[in-house]
Amino acid sequence: MKVRNLTDYRTDDLRKIFAAGLKAEGASLRDTFILVVYIQGSSVSGRASLGRWTGNVNRGARKLSPEYRSCYWIRMELPRPGKKINLFDRPSMIKELAQVLVHEIGHNLELQHREMAPLVSIEVPWAEGLQLRVKDKKPKPTLADRANKRESHVRKMVDKYERQLARTERLLKKWRKKLKHYEAKHRREKMRLAAAKGSDDGDSANS
Ligand SMILES: [Zn+2]
Repeated sequence: MKVRNLTDYRTDDLRKIFAAGLKAEGASLRDTFILVVYIQGSSVSGRASLGRWTGNVNRGARKLSPEYRSCYWIRMELPRPGKKINLFDRPSMIKELAQVLVHEIGHNLELQHREMAPLVSIEVPWAEGLQLRVKDKKPKPTLADRANKRESHVRKMVDKYERQLARTERLLKKWRKKLKHYEAKHRREKMRLAAAKGSDDGDSANS
């Protein structure tokens, strides 16, 4: 079973519900791909492939491993957390989710609507005691956190350029030393040449 969850509901809770439902209906856990998205309204809805699906598995299909390119495909559509769905004549979110899941699994098992029981009469005893929680939101960084982060970045950059500067100074010293060596060598060469020329002049004067 592969679950791609695009909602704020906890994926581990969703997986437990889906696995229990698939098991209860005798459907394939291994080959089922379930996409979870939000719905505009306040009741759970769904869609599913009639039997095996070999096309493009909706959004995120390209990210799926090849074995899920041929799978039993279910799309569960859940109301956003906080949407009131526990009205007096409506089942709980979990029960509604479980009933829709069983209906969609029915499609995966190649059942048509005329062959299935109406949604509200579907019994889902396996869903009792299961829960669907909302993911914990990461706490927003405070102003102090952000300032600390910026300061440590600045510190890192100062360290980096200080190291670069020290290295540059070392290299400059080395190359200056080399330059001095070549300058001295050149000077000595010039003096030697000048001395040699001087003695040549002397020879020519004697001849
Ligand atoms: Zn249907």
